[in-house]
Amino acid sequence: MGRKFFVGGNWKCTGTTEEVKKIVSNLNDAQVPSFDVVEVVVSPPYVFLPLVKNSLRPDFHVAAQNCWVKKGGAFTGEVSAEMLVNLGIPWVILGHSERRSLLNESNEFVGDKDLPWRSLLHKPKQLQRGYQTGLMLSWPMSPVWAIGTGKVASPAQAQEVHSELRKWLHANTSPEVAATTRIIYGGSVNGANCKELGAKPDVDGFLVGGASLKPEFIDIIKAAE
Ligand code: PEP
Repeated sequence: MGRKFFVGGNWKCTGTTEEVKKIVSNLNDAQVPSFDVVEVVVSPPYVFLPLVKNSLRPDFHVAAQNCWVKKGGAFTGEVSAEMLVNLGIPWVILGHSERRSLLNESNEFVGDKDLPWRSLLHKPKQLQRGYQTGLMLSWPMSPVWAIGTGKVASPAQAQEVHSELRKWLHANTSPEVAATTRIIYGGSVNGANCKELGAKPDVDGFLVGGASLKPEFIDIIKAAE
């Protein structure tokens, strides 16, 4: 069963309105493989979500970098899953290692964030989409020593770990889940190393940080070809 290549851009906590408009304009002008070949999702800071959602080409999608663990209410400073869905954003990065290390997010806390998405994306088709996109079927595998450091795993190292994960999924979920889950690599992916990494059979795409703010993000998208 084919797994469509996935390229996520995590813009982290960076950017001014002018810089964001420039990045969006570069993405809109780029010649990239079609949506049948690669799924591209960019993740700006919350404050830029409406701007990016309203100005980005329709074949690229937008994700939030986090969401609150429960429904909305008296949780000052948080953004709920309902608010994101209301904005037309069914994607979210959950449990990024920076949030785990800097804000002490635990596995249990991150796991609980799955629940509002499951109840919101309740129709069968949407549920399937929710799974295929933000929740289960894109599983970022990022060695922490490679995130934002300029040190990248070798293609062989990435393949070895991804293939072990797929075996784990096979044994602990089902052959179908193992065959369809996209296991994506994150950690200092750039225009120079993306092609070799992306050629490995169990590397189904990337979560890109620093390089997603630069023109080389287009080369990374093209690694899907
Ligand atoms: C990330 O933000 O998940 C990431 C992998 O960052 P970078 O590409 O900068 O290492």
